[in-house]
Amino acid sequence: MPVVRQELAEYARKIAAAGLTAGAGGNISAREGRLVWVKPSGLAMAELKGTDLCAVDIASGRQVEGRLRPTSELPMHLAVYRARPDVQAIFHTHSPFASGVISSTDDIRPMFAEVVNDLGGVALVPYIMTSTQALADAVAAAAKDSGTIFMANHGVVALGRTMRQAFFRCEVAEDAAKALVAARLAGKPAFLTDAQVEALKKLEGGAHRKRMMER
Ligand code: 13P
Ligand code: ZN
Repeated sequence: MPVVRQELAEYARKIAAAGLTAGAGGNISAREGRLVWVKPSGLAMAELKGTDLCAVDIASGRQVEGRLRPTSELPMHLAVYRARPDVQAIFHTHSPFASGVISSTDDIRPMFAEVVNDLGGVALVPYIMTSTQALADAVAAAAKDSGTIFMANHGVVALGRTMRQAFFRCEVAEDAAKALVAARLAGKPAFLTDAQVEALKKLEGGAHRKRMMER
């Protein structure tokens, strides 16, 4: 099995094992040259095999490999790859805590350094119906200067220069949401101030850490 497909299937299982999505929710993809390998529609992450993946030409949107139909969010994956030539992987999950928080009156503001330094900037896209070109266009616009995009009443889209980075971003986003719920239960969350956020962005060693995340 060629390495990109094998790695993508391994990350699908990691996403399922980490409880980041349930049932057939979510979809993942990775770029390989002019093509993108994507999860078929309706398949659960936990059952995805490398041989199930579909290949789609990024420029034309035409399916060139795979017997199954590509994910219903293919327009979103294609729009982001076209807008962000540096992005190599896109992981979309229906993570329960992150999805719950962003679909409430609360939002995932930074309480911790990794939210500032590891998510690549966050953006919130208001509710737009799943699998539509309108959602694809809104996510691609948000992706221009964000690495993690929250879709209200839906879920998380994490971008990566590598699959590993996209996976870390899914984990960090979900943990940030869990911590916020814990903080709300425990008392009143102490969010980082704007000055603290700016100082973290300039943290010594930050560039090294970012490079390590992208490996
Ligand atoms: P697919 O099974 O078509 O990938 O859809 C899952 C999903 O998350 C839609 O937003
Ligand atoms: Zn979805």
